[in-house]
Amino acid sequence: MNVVQAMQHGMALGLERLDAQLLVLHVLGQAAHDRAWLLAHDTDALPPQAASLLEALAARRIAGEPLAYLTGHKEFFGLDLRIDARVLDPRPDTETLVEWALEVLPSTAAARVMDLGTGSGAIALALKATRPHLTVVALDYSTDALAVAQANARRLQLDMQCIQGSWLESVEGRFAAIVSNPPYIRTDDAHLEALAHEPLQALASGQDGLDDIRRIIAQAPKHLEPGGWLLLEHGYDQAPTVCALLEAAGFTKVQSRQDLAGIARCSGGSLPR
Ligand code: GLN
Repeated sequence: MNVVQAMQHGMALGLERLDAQLLVLHVLGQAAHDRAWLLAHDTDALPPQAASLLEALAARRIAGEPLAYLTGHKEFFGLDLRIDARVLDPRPDTETLVEWALEVLPSTAAARVMDLGTGSGAIALALKATRPHLTVVALDYSTDALAVAQANARRLQLDMQCIQGSWLESVEGRFAAIVSNPPYIRTDDAHLEALAHEPLQALASGQDGLDDIRRIIAQAPKHLEPGGWLLLEHGYDQAPTVCALLEAAGFTKVQSRQDLAGIARCSGGSLPR
């Protein structure tokens, strides 16, 4: 089996074209961004080991495992993150939250920023990579997730403090911004089934999906500097409720931002000065 045949075989099994390309690159030890390699090597033979690995990974992908868990990598905000089933697979939509945080954080002065529920460290590391003088704190309840975040920080040589905790309960001090992609899916949401390979505690949040967001909004004012921002990712239909919760908690400048699909995906507000 050569490279082209491997691609065709993967697609015949039911893989999307892009997934087939990325899995073929992965089993041949090539970088995920190097899809031109496939064209230049279309008639190269796949070693038998690579062919059988491709077979196994294709089956797992078709059964719904995120591609990032199969390759162990995910690109987020230009960073190559190591990802596995201990953490949520970072979504490109979450880059909206990073861009918003970069707008509200000072571009030159030092400032403290907190990423609540950091998972792989995606948001925290994207902020640190873009603004090296930020002091970045990454918190998660899951020590497994923190191990992934810490490993990513070390590998990317980005300095951030990782702490275990239940949201802001045992956190000290104040921040210029608190950002979070918390769990926000309703526990009875049929959509959860399609996400069965990812950690449930990173996804589901009570009957209306807002248990964690309510907790974060209640705790955040005591941990923000005057004028500091709380920015939250949330579900496709939660923007009005999250904005109302932010206003009720005393936040000003409350507003939402759209994700890549044009859905109001993040909402936030500023603590009055
Ligand atoms: N955006 C993810 C999804 O709906 C969920 C992420 C989360 O709950 N924070 O597929």
